[in-house]
Amino acid sequence: MPRADLIGKPLSGFMGPPDADRFDLLCRQVLARGSTQSCELHIRKSNGSAVWIKLHAISATGDGETVIRMVLSDISERKQAEATLMASTRLRDAILDSVPSQIAVLDYNGVILAVNDVWRKFALDNSTMPGEYASNTQSGVNYLDVCQAAKDDDSQKEARLVREGILHVINGTAPSFHLEYPCHSPTQQRWFSMAVTPLHVDNHAVVVTHTDITQRRQMEQAAEEASEKKFRLVADNTSDGIVIFGMDKRIQYVSPACAKLFGYPEAEVIHRSLAMMSDLIHPEDRESLFGSLVRAVESKDLDLMCSYRYKHRLGHYIWREDSVRFQYDDAGNFSGACVVARDVTQRIAAAEEIHKLAYFDELTGLPNRGLLTNRMQKVLAVSARTGTCGSLLFIDMDDFKRLKHTLGFDIGNLILKQVAQRLMRCVDEGDTVARLGGDEFMVVLSSLGSDNVEAAKKAATVASEILCSLSRPFELENQSHHCTACIGATMYQRQSISVDDLMKQVDLAMHHAKVVGQNVLRFYDPAMELGVKQRIAMEKDLRQAVAAKQFVLHYQPQVQVQGTGRVTGAEALVRWGHPVRGMVPPGDFIAVAEDTGLILALGDWVLETACAQLKAWGDEPSMAHLTLAVNVSALQFAQTDFVEQVMTMVQRTGATPLRLKLELTESLLVGNVDDIVGKMNVLKASGIGFSLDDFGTGFSSLAHLSRLPLDQLKIDRSFVNDVMTNPDDAAIARTIIALAHSLNLGVIAEGVETDEQRAFLADSGCHAYQGYLFSRPLSLEDFAVYVRKLGALST
Ligand code: C2E
Ligand code: CA
Ligand code: CA
Repeated sequence: MPRADLIGKPLSGFMGPPDADRFDLLCRQVLARGSTQSCELHIRKSNGSAVWIKLHAISATGDGETVIRMVLSDISERKQAEATLMASTRLRDAILDSVPSQIAVLDYNGVILAVNDVWRKFALDNSTMPGEYASNTQSGVNYLDVCQAAKDDDSQKEARLVREGILHVINGTAPSFHLEYPCHSPTQQRWFSMAVTPLHVDNHAVVVTHTDITQRRQMEQAAEEASEKKFRLVADNTSDGIVIFGMDKRIQYVSPACAKLFGYPEAEVIHRSLAMMSDLIHPEDRESLFGSLVRAVESKDLDLMCSYRYKHRLGHYIWREDSVRFQYDDAGNFSGACVVARDVTQRIAAAEEIHKLAYFDELTGLPNRGLLTNRMQKVLAVSARTGTCGSLLFIDMDDFKRLKHTLGFDIGNLILKQVAQRLMRCVDEGDTVARLGGDEFMVVLSSLGSDNVEAAKKAATVASEILCSLSRPFELENQSHHCTACIGATMYQRQSISVDDLMKQVDLAMHHAKVVGQNVLRFYDPAMELGVKQRIAMEKDLRQAVAAKQFVLHYQPQVQVQGTGRVTGAEALVRWGHPVRGMVPPGDFIAVAEDTGLILALGDWVLETACAQLKAWGDEPSMAHLTLAVNVSALQFAQTDFVEQVMTMVQRTGATPLRLKLELTESLLVGNVDDIVGKMNVLKASGIGFSLDDFGTGFSSLAHLSRLPLDQLKIDRSFVNDVMTNPDDAAIARTIIALAHSLNLGVIAEGVETDEQRAFLADSGCHAYQGYLFSRPLSLEDFAVYVRKLGALST
C-alpha cells in the first residue's frame, strides 16, 4: 500500500476483530504502564493476503503530547515453520498414543519426561496394585525410584533387574534391555514384555516400553501343554524307556516303560543321580560309561550313544543302549539330559554269536583266517611304529590227509583240537594262534624285541618247541598216534609289508620245508622268491610243451640175471626235449606237471606212446617178448575214467595188455581202498600187470598190500644204493624180498650200480634188476641195439 494511502488510517483497520481487540488492549497497556509491550498479530495486506507480524510498542511523550511508537516486523516465515513443527509434534504424539504398548521417555537421571496415552491410562488403572512399578508413574516421577519400591520378594528381584537394566542402557554399557515378566492380579493373569532402548537426544536418555504379551503367552502355554500331552502319550507307549535328568544331574522323570524294562518303580529312582545308582551298572562297564559321560559334557557334546550292562531289579544284567541328549544353558553349563534307553540284550547276544562264527574256528575255538588277518594288520602297524620285531609261523601237519583217511574223521578232529592246545602252550599270552582250516595253523609272535638277530633266534626257539611238542604222541581212546609238522616262518620289523605278502612268504618257506621232508622248520629267504618266479615261467613253458608234445620216451632195460643176463623189458622214462634247454630230466618237471594237472595230458601221451611202442615191438621177433613198465601218477590213477582210458589206449594201439606193466607208487594208495582195488582188478582182468614203485619209502600197511592185485614190488633205489654200506638198508632190502616171496609177488631192484649190489640182491633172492650196472635209460634206437646185443650174447 503506498505510503500516502497509509497516513491517517487506523492500524486496527488492517486486522480481524480478535486481533483488533488485542491491539487495542496493547495500546492501552503501553499508555498505562509506559513500558514496552509486544504481541504477535495477523494483519491483512491491501491485496487481501494475511501477514504475521511481531509488534513492539512503546509510548513517548514530547511537546506534552503522548504518542505510541511501534515497530512491526514480518514474522510470517517463522510462524509458518512453527505451524509445521506443531503439526508434526501432534502427529508424533498421536502415533505414540495409538501404539498399544506403554511408552515412556526417561532422562539421564531416570525421571520420566513424557509418557504416551496407554502408559497414562495403565498407571491410573493400576495405581492400587502392590509392587507395581509401571503404575503411579507420571511425568516428573523418577522411574528408578519406583522400581526400588517393589514390595514382595519376587517383584523386588525383578525390580532390581529392571533398575540395573535401565541404568546400563542409560550409561551406554548395554545396547538394550529386555525382560518378560508376569503381572498377575487377583482377577487377571497378565504377562508383559519390557524393552529399554537408548534415545540420547537432548536430555532424553532412554525409551521404556511395556507390551502386554498375555495372549502370546497363553498360546505358548497351550502349545506347551499340548506338547506335554503328546510327550506323555509317546513316553507311555513306546517300549524304550525315557529318563530325564535335571540340572542337578538327578532324575526328574522316568517313563513307565523304564520300570518295565529294568524292574524299578518310579519311586525308587526318581530324584536319584546316576552316580547314586552306580552299583547297578556292571563293574566292567562303570568306568567307561562315566568316562564317556564326563567327556561328552566337558566338550559340550549334544549327543552320546552308550551301551552297558545294567542290573535288573531281579538281579540279572540287561544290556542297555542309551541315546543321551544333553542340554546346556546360554553360559554353556549343563542344564539337563534326556535319555532314551533300549534293551539290546538279545541283539548283543546275536552279535556276539555272529562275531564268534565270523572270527573263530568252530572246531578248535582258535581265531580263524579273518581274525588272524585283522590282528596281523594291527601288529604290523605297531611294529612299523615301534620297531618291535615279530614273526609269523605257518604250521602244517605232515601227511595229515592220509592219517585222517586211515583213522577216520573224528579222530582227525580230536588230534587237531590237541594240536591247537599244544600250540597255545608254546606261545606267550599276547601272541595269536589261528587255524586257517584243515591241518593248517598260524602263529603270530608279536613281541620279540627290537634286535632282529635276537628276535629270529627267539622265533626259531618257539618254532622248535612247537615241532617238538607236536611230535609227541597224541593219546586218543587208549591209542597213541604219531604225527609231525613242518613250519614255514618269516620275520617282520618296520617294513611296510602287507599281511598278504607275509602270508606268501611263510607259504613259500613251508613249501621248501615240505620238500626237505617231515618235521622241518624253514625260514623265509628272499632267494625263495626267485624259485617261485622260475617255477611260474616253467609252468608256462610246460603248458606249451604239452600242447606241442615236446617229449620223448627213453627206455631203461630191466634184466633178469640167472646165469647169463637176459633183457625182459624196459621202464619208459619221459624226457622233455626243450627247444632251448635241451633234454630236461623228469625230476625237473614232473612235480610241476603234477601240481598243475598237466600230468594228465602228459601221462596220456606217455601211455599212448608206450602202447604204440609195445605194438611195434610185438611185430618184431627179437623184441616181441619185452614188457614195458609205465609210470602212473596218483592224479592220473584217481581219474574216474582211468580204467577206460587205459583200455581204449590198449585197444586203439593194438598193444598186448600182457606186456604192459603199470608202475604205481604208494602215495597213490591213499583214499578209498575198495575203489583202487576195483580199478586194478578190471585192468588186471584184461592182462595188464602192476608193479609197486619205490617200495619201502612209503607207509603201505601190510593189510593193504595183501589186498592189492599186484605182480611185482620194486625195491627203491635208495636202499639198493646203500646195501653194501648200511646194514639197516640191507635188512630192509632183504625183508622186502622175503615179503614179495611170501605174498607170491615178483621183485625187482632198481638203481643197481655195482656188481656187489647185484650179488647181494641175488644172494637175498632178487634176480631182476634195473640200473646203471646194466644200462642208463636209452633212446629208442640205442635200446634196440642194446637188446639185440644182449640177446646175441645170451643165446
Ligand atoms: P622212477 O620211476 O623211480 O624211475 C627211475 C629213475 O631212476 C630214473 O630217473 C632213472 O634214470 C633212474 N635210475 C635208473 N638206474 C639208476 C641207477 O643205477 N642209479 C641212479 N642213481 N639212478 C638210476 P629219471 O628218468 O630221471 O626219472 C625220475 C623219475 O621221474 C622217475 O622215477 C619217475 O618217478 C618220474 N617219471 C619218469 N617218467 C615218468 C612218466 O612217464 N610218468 C610219470 N608219472 N613219472 C615219470
Ligand atoms: Ca618208475
Ligand atoms: Ca622207482
